[in-house]
Amino acid sequence: MSTWSPHPVHLLTFDLDDTLWPCKPVIQAAERAVHDWFREAAPVIAERYDIDSLREHRIRVARENPHWAHDLTGIRLHSYRQLARRHGLDEAIAEQANAVFRRERNKVTPWPEVAEALRALREHFVLVAVSNGNAQIEHTPLADCFHHAFMAEEVGAAKPDPALFHAAAEVSGIPLWQAAHIGDDPHRDVEAARRVGMHAVWVNRNGTAWPDDLSPPDHTVSDLRALVAALLGDR
Ligand SMILES: [Mg+2]
Repeated sequence: MSTWSPHPVHLLTFDLDDTLWPCKPVIQAAERAVHDWFREAAPVIAERYDIDSLREHRIRVARENPHWAHDLTGIRLHSYRQLARRHGLDEAIAEQANAVFRRERNKVTPWPEVAEALRALREHFVLVAVSNGNAQIEHTPLADCFHHAFMAEEVGAAKPDPALFHAAAEVSGIPLWQAAHIGDDPHRDVEAARRVGMHAVWVNRNGTAWPDDLSPPDHTVSDLRALVAALLGDR
């Protein structure tokens, strides 16, 4: 990993999904839980839609409402509301189904080194979670690891838009040129962060190739233990 100069780093922003925990299993489990819940609370929906067709309906809602691209919770809620209306059900069903999803969405399983690494970094840096997803960090096993957290749906734009980074700078009082962003996505994390003058660290856990259309990352780590070593060294 190359040097952090010329600017000292005081703020670390972290992507969540696929940086701190695998995302797909938790989404799949949450969608399964919602479908099971529909079976009890709104059997007409469970009978007409399986998990895949519920997802397709939501994707259609998202496509029809591109201005909501950053608001995954809003899109899900809107999709459930449409289905409730279509089948003559109370729209409260949508809120309840969404609550089931959210509860399950927070049951993430961080990779084994993550909690300890974040707690070590927290001693030396301000840590801010910045996620395009909608896991609520305060309800996850990493609740005590961050100083602050923002979701795209709270700031009105998803990465690569810099709104999440600016929110982190504002809440911490630390300028972005004294900040490093850590994430798994070459475009939404690495390129987006360096475009606003941040250091950027690519978390590449499974040896993925870097995309040809981007200049290579300055810093790459295979997990957060390597990040701690690079940032703290012998400190
Ligand atoms: Mg990610």
